[in-house]
Amino acid sequence: MSATIIEGKPVADSIYREITNDLITLKAGGCTPHLTVVLVGDDPASQVYVGMKQKACEKYGLGSETILLPGTTTENELLQVVDKLNHRPDVHGILVQLPVPKHISAKKVIDAISPEKDVDGLHPINRGRLAVGDECFIPCTPAGVQQLLLFNNIKTEGKHVVVVGRSSLVGLPFALMMMQKKAGANATVTVCHTGSGDLKPYTKEADILVAAAGRAGIITADMVKPGCVVIDVGTNRVDDPSVPRGYRLTGDVDFENVKNVAGAISPVPGGVGPMTIVMLLKNTVKAARQQSGL
Ligand code: NAP
Repeated sequence: MSATIIEGKPVADSIYREITNDLITLKAGGCTPHLTVVLVGDDPASQVYVGMKQKACEKYGLGSETILLPGTTTENELLQVVDKLNHRPDVHGILVQLPVPKHISAKKVIDAISPEKDVDGLHPINRGRLAVGDECFIPCTPAGVQQLLLFNNIKTEGKHVVVVGRSSLVGLPFALMMMQKKAGANATVTVCHTGSGDLKPYTKEADILVAAAGRAGIITADMVKPGCVVIDVGTNRVDDPSVPRGYRLTGDVDFENVKNVAGAISPVPGGVGPMTIVMLLKNTVKAARQQSGL
């Protein structure tokens, strides 16, 4: 039997509706949530992501601005830009698009963002708060995955969640979220990475399998327990001369075969993808509420 398909769009749309309601209150109080994105250099993929974030802000009525800096910008110059944004009362959220050029330390830059404006949830203060279960900004993609599960009534409590990937952007925060004694979590969590060796003994035990390795098709049907919920975070470009742009986007999961084993599965594109930007807007609105007191 084929799995239920977990689409991101209806979930994202319901969160956009919540955001629209929050905006009414904030704007009535004279506050328009404002996101500033800083992009250093001209990486084409980063330009696309930044453009999508700006468009979403415009579409849903948030203020937004993109600061474009040349690839030759020094670390100090970038730190000064961040410092100015930290002090601007009209800016509620700051996001420095990663990766930054090699001569700049991403860690130093992230550490320089005010934790109250860190809508990407990458500042060590927010990461620490997440680890101990305190209120904080959670990175947008893992927060979006949790919303996908909640919206689709997929219970996590007491389930075995296996996460493939331990990055600070996706795998690690998601694992931390799932192990907390809270609604929408309270799972038993296993985290796999490149040191795990053969993944199958772990993935085969998963009630919920989250693939965030960035390796096209790494999760095959024989690695999945029948009925498992499979969430595919991976977004990989694979060459495809049959399409005009020469590549297509594919996930970490062999979707065509895994869907015949899984109970539910998110596609790529169209699953986790739409969730990341809506969660960024949600974090920006939250930052504006906290900073304005509205
Ligand atoms: P990342 O920083 O490269 O981290 C990848 C993680 O996967 C690492 O922990 C790595 O292990 C692990 N890994 C890599 N190959 C593996 C293998 N063969 N077996 C087991 N573990 C393996 O990537 P990321 O930023 O977390 O992103 C992961 C994927 O999600 C990418 O495809 C990215 O494009 C996608 N993504 C999508 C969205 C979205 O909005 N849809 C957002 C963010 C990311 P080590 O720690 O041992 O190196």
